[in-house]
Amino acid sequence: MAELMQDRVEKLKDADVFIYHGKIYIPNTYTAGAVGSRFLIELRDNKKIMGTRCTACDLVYVPARSVCKHCFEQLDKWVEVSDRGTLQTYTVAGQANGVQPVDPPIIYGVILLDGASTGLVHMLSEVDLENLAVGMRLKAVFREKRTASILDIKYFAPL
Ligand SMILES: [Zn+2]
Repeated sequence: MAELMQDRVEKLKDADVFIYHGKIYIPNTYTAGAVGSRFLIELRDNKKIMGTRCTACDLVYVPARSVCKHCFEQLDKWVEVSDRGTLQTYTVAGQANGVQPVDPPIIYGVILLDGASTGLVHMLSEVDLENLAVGMRLKAVFREKRTASILDIKYFAPL
């Protein structure tokens, strides 16, 4: 994987690309809301990935959300989805930017968990770039010490 990333970095050196280095410090605090909080608490306390169902549209949103984005119904039916799913798309971040949760290269993916209708954005690990492919099956790997954060899922790994 490191060799492939180095190859990509070498190709960028010849490209007509400008990179500006700078820092923006924006302290902020916000609430996850009642629905977001329950979603995060289930991750922390039970290692469960929860969604909310819109019965009118027959959709399960993961992460859980309070309103259906199609019909605007309030969503109060909670469902547990699988910790396993299918990779829908991905990208690889090779440049450190100071806000990434781990050092690059980082594989970000959209994972459609079994039982969900929407993809969850998260990181992948334990996979070589050569084997990375849309459609591959993945499983959530949880942290031992969880803090009610989306990063309580450490990453998704191939099945
Ligand atoms: Zn709906």
